[in-house]
Amino acid sequence: MGSKALHEFLSANLDELKEKGLYRKLPVVTGPTGPRCIINGKEVINLSSNNYLGLANDPRLVEAAIKATEKYGAGAGAVRTIVGTLDIHEELEEKLAKFKHSEAVIVFQSGFNCNMGTVSALMTKEDAILSDELNHASIIDGCRLSGAKIIRYKHSDMDDLRKTIKEAYESGQYKKLMIITDGVFSMDGDIAKLPEIVEIAEEYGAFTYVDDAHASGVLGKNGSGSVSHFNLYGKVDCQIGTLSKAIGVVGGYVAGTKELIDWLKLRGRPFLFSTAMTPGAAGACIKAIEILSESSELVDRLWDNARYFKSKLSSIGYDIGHSETPITPVIIGDEAKAMKFSDELFNSGVFAQGIAFPTVPRGTARVRNIVTAAHTKDMLDEAVEIYKKVGTKMGII
Ligand SMILES: *Cc1c(COP(=O)(O)O)cnc(C)c1O
Repeated sequence: MGSKALHEFLSANLDELKEKGLYRKLPVVTGPTGPRCIINGKEVINLSSNNYLGLANDPRLVEAAIKATEKYGAGAGAVRTIVGTLDIHEELEEKLAKFKHSEAVIVFQSGFNCNMGTVSALMTKEDAILSDELNHASIIDGCRLSGAKIIRYKHSDMDDLRKTIKEAYESGQYKKLMIITDGVFSMDGDIAKLPEIVEIAEEYGAFTYVDDAHASGVLGKNGSGSVSHFNLYGKVDCQIGTLSKAIGVVGGYVAGTKELIDWLKLRGRPFLFSTAMTPGAAGACIKAIEILSESSELVDRLWDNARYFKSKLSSIGYDIGHSETPITPVIIGDEAKAMKFSDELFNSGVFAQGIAFPTVPRGTARVRNIVTAAHTKDMLDEAVEIYKKVGTKMGII
């Protein structure tokens, strides 16, 4: 039954969401999350996964996961610092370090955990963090956990960053300064201005931290990330990558100097207090990194599909924002209307998730598309036709 006090709190808040049309049930996928899949019992073109390269269902990864599971078991059995470090975890870290051209890498159970563990291991209440106002929730939570002063700068506004960091520096109040940013912003698909961020950081003796969750497997040489994209090797102190999105499995990692990684192995709390990634996931991640290292074919196909789809959506009259990556928002504005639009698209055969406040600022509700390497041009054409039909019917285009 639950307590009366809790019931009152929950029902009032749930009712409010229902009134605003923001109450959502979880969509359930039957079978693999491919480019076409069955969601809530209906076959649709899937434009909402983070499976950028189609690796989540790649038979080579599935086989690697099975082999590692057979060899090591279903679980790692302990946290990394006790007896949960299997040689397969270390192999994954070595492969990732090479792929990133970094001295060392530490793997966490998720990208979210990377941010929780890393920011809090580096910054304290005597420090200040300059944080882009559109940074991901896990960055925000990691910053909060660290206890450092959080100074938000306007999204990708380098003048504002310069102004705020100068004030923080000149105040003399803080021991350390750090600038933290998403590499690719997940809701708009724009790329952080890393070269300028690095320059500003150098000017004020701050260190730099980029979360490449949506850049991993997408940007840079063979999808190795935003540091590669801007040729900033050795200039960014902490690079976070996720193994859960384009890499197709689950997990996250931090790439940096050997010293940084040594410290995180001693002070990154999710590494110390949460069980290690499963052997099957580690095996599949190793295979994915091998595939990416050998060829840029999947990354090239991803970008080709993304450009194709974006130009078509834009040509039929949609506002697709200012994305520079395969993330393709269709901006609607009104929250309830965006959700209705997403529902209508679904009824017509396209799954493109509606996204509203608090994930994006109020008044910028949207449906977000992520085209993948696994979509065919035929599927994309079909999706565009559905967009045309539904958008016309709802008076959006
Ligand atoms: C998705 C995302 C994460 C979380 O990564 P997981 O591996 O799914 O936990 C962290 N940061 C950013 C910027 C993300 O987009």
